[in-house]
This record gives sequence, structure tokens and C-alpha cells, in this order.
Amino acid sequence: MSDKKPSIAIVGAGIGGMCVAATLQQIGVHTEIYEQAVRFARVGAGIQMMPNSMKVLRRIGVEEPLRRKAFQPYSHLNRAWDTGEVLRELPMPESLFGAPYLCMHRAELHEALAAAVPEGIIHFNKRLVGLDESAGQVTLAFADGTSAHADAVIGADGVHSVVRQILIGPDEPIHKGRIAYRAIFSSEYLKGKEIGASRTKWWGLDRHIVIYYTAADRSELYFVTSLPERAEWLTRESWSSKGDVRELREAYQGFHPDVRDVLEACPDCHKWAILEREPLPRWSDGRVVLLGDACHPMTPYMAQGAATAIEDAAVLARCLRETGGDNFPGAFKRYEAHRKPRTSLIQAISSANTWMKGGNDDTSWLYGYDAWNVPLTEKEPAYKPA
Ligand SMILES: Cc1cc2nc3c(=O)[nH]c(=O)nc-3n(C[C@H](O)[C@H](O)[C@H](O)COP(=O)(O)OP(=O)(O)OC[C@H]3O[C@@H](n4cnc5c(N)ncnc54)[C@H](O)[C@@H]3O)c2cc1C
Repeated sequence: MSDKKPSIAIVGAGIGGMCVAATLQQIGVHTEIYEQAVRFARVGAGIQMMPNSMKVLRRIGVEEPLRRKAFQPYSHLNRAWDTGEVLRELPMPESLFGAPYLCMHRAELHEALAAAVPEGIIHFNKRLVGLDESAGQVTLAFADGTSAHADAVIGADGVHSVVRQILIGPDEPIHKGRIAYRAIFSSEYLKGKEIGASRTKWWGLDRHIVIYYTAADRSELYFVTSLPERAEWLTRESWSSKGDVRELREAYQGFHPDVRDVLEACPDCHKWAILEREPLPRWSDGRVVLLGDACHPMTPYMAQGAATAIEDAAVLARCLRETGGDNFPGAFKRYEAHRKPRTSLIQAISSANTWMKGGNDDTSWLYGYDAWNVPLTEKEPAYKPA
């Protein structure tokens, strides 16, 4: 490794981008993050963090702030939409996979990650429009006419990634004609009713709904759905478009009273298209590499999109450290070789929406994965979906 400290530009200050800035800081790599938004917005949504992602967050100092605020569900509970019959329940004590299972407001996770990255490295209002690699450097061009240089670039710019388009070429994410409603609101709206100590997924015939608390004191709850919608309904900026709460209630008529109580209480909701993508032919080219939704966007049905982006961040840092910190193409190939079999499998199971619907399948390959310590082989995960 040369004396000069490498510097990496990260495109996108989402969960993946922030997390990789924090993991790279741990190995002494300097990063700058370029984000298109003018500031962070408090996106009204919940997020589940499973033990596999919590192990990464622990090492970068994000576990403790989350523990203080997040809700720790007793179990993954899967129930039939109408009778409420328990299809599968997996209690999730911390001892099971060596880390907690937490549910929280997305903004809490974002804030904790922002506190874990070095001050002053996030540059807002920098929408990437071009990349040029020459003479051992990459030049980033932004929509405002400015540019920046780095030894390497990580594209953590989400499902509509510009970095991916530059690397692989243009294409559209897959929209299978399903949309999601979501809402996060005060438990006071429930007027004394409880939703239980678990994160519950209610499985209907062609639709489902997942419900959980997002605050340790149960003062706030969240739900997210999946149901059919005409395929041309699409949102480019997915987090802010509103839904009609009456249409939502209509779509879940006939569901168990516990579900209907939550939907009746819900004051407002958002709606957006569920997008996914087939595994990409490659994740990197020379000094440019992809991470998170930019390279493996998936349906949210296993709650693993952010979790796998967080795992990517730890493994990418390990690969850079192992190859000496400045052999970028070598490190990026090694990272892809280890990560792609796992993320492709998770993409496939997520797409099929079969995870924990019933049966007693092994879950340890997913939740027990420890990105800091797993051997960096290219082996396929042992799990085979039914
Ligand atoms: C309904 C729903 C529920 C989910 N629930 C869970 C869950 O419970 N658990 C879980 O693990 N995952 C969940 N996910 C998935 C998770 O939200 C995503 O996988 C995760 O946010 C991906 O992070 P990312 O950093 O790769 O991309 P993003 O979060 O999309 O961040 C990309 C960032 O890049 C910026 N950007 C984009 N283009 C440019 C550009 N040209 N220049 C500069 N900046 C740019 C964007 O503004 C954004 O800030 C859910 C997803 C959905 C839709």
C-alpha cells in the first residue's frame, strides 16, 4: 500500500452510503459523500433491523442509540388474514443470533448513522450525472456543473442508480403490478387497543400487511402492505406520494378485526410501487463499484434491503483492507464474489414472498450471518428455497 491515503467518493447518503462511510472510516479510508437531496427529510416509515444488520451496526457505534429508542419485538409472527391462525412464529431473543431484532422509525436509523460518519463529509445538492475514470482517478460530474475527484467511487444511489446505468447501461427496474401502502402514526389513534408484542405479518390470498411498533414505549406504530395494482402505476420518487386511506381500508375488508382496527385508526397513508431487479451481470468496473439497492434492489417482503446494504458495507471494508486499501479492482471483485450469491438468493426469496409463510425452514443462514467475521469465500449459501 502506498503512503498516500486512498480517498473514496460515495454517491448517495441513504442507509447504504452512510453505513459504508462509517465502515471505511474504521479501516482508515477517507470518504466524501455526494447526495442529490438538498437536506435529509424525515421519511415517514418504519424499518426492521434484523440481527444480521445489527451486528454490523454494533461495530460502528449505532446499536446503542437504536436500542434506547427502538421497539424490540418478541417474535416474527405470521398469521392467516381472516382467522388469525398462527402459520409460523419465530421468537427472536437476542441470544438466538447474538444481536437484537429492532423495529424503529426510519429517521432514527438515519440519524444514528449520520452521527457515526465523520463531520463535514456529506455534500448535499450534488446530483451525480457523469463519471470518468482516467489516470488512476475517477472524476464525478454533478448536475450543478461542479466536479470532484476520488481514487474510487461507490455507487450507493438506490434503485434508480445513475452509477449503475453508467456501469451496466440503461434499463428499467421490474414492476410486477404490486404496490405498497404504508403509514406511521401515534398509538393514541388506536384508542387503547394493542397490536401485541410481535411484528405480525398477516398473509392474505393475494395481499398481505405487516404491522409493528416503532418505539420502545409503544407510542408509535407502523404498517406496510403489498397488493395488486395496475402495472402502469409507478412512482419515480417513491417515498413521498400519498395514498387514499379509504381505498386502503376497502382493499383489506374481510381481514381479521385486529388488522381492520389498525386501518380504521390510521389517519393518512403513503403509496408507492414495489420495484425489483434481476441480479446484475457485474457490480463493478475498474475503480467504480455498486452497493445496496443500486446493485440488488429487492421487494421489501423479507425486510432485508437495507440489511443487505449494511452487510455490503462491512464486507466491502474488509475486502479493501485485505487487498491493501488501494487495489480497488481486486477488492471490488472479491466483494462481489462473496456478496452476490447471498444477495441474489435473498432477492429471489423476497420476490417469491414465501419467507416464513409457514413450515419450519432454517433461518440461521440469514439472521445468523456475521458480515465482520464470515469467511470471504464465493460459496453459495446452503439454504435452498422450497
Ligand atoms: C416499503 C419498504 C419497506 C422496507 N422495509 C425494510 C425493512 O424493514 N428492513 C430493511 O432492511 N429494508 C427495508 N426496505 C428496503 C430499504 O429501504 C432499502 O433497501 C434501503 O433503503 C436501500 O438503501 P440504499 O442506501 O441502497 O438506497 P437508498 O435508501 O435509496 O438511498 C439512495 C440515496 O442516493 C441518493 N441518490 C440517488 N441518485 C443520486 C444521484 N444521481 N446523485 C446523488 N445522490 C443520489 C438518494 O437521494 C438517496 O439518498 C424497505 C423498502 C421499502 C420500499
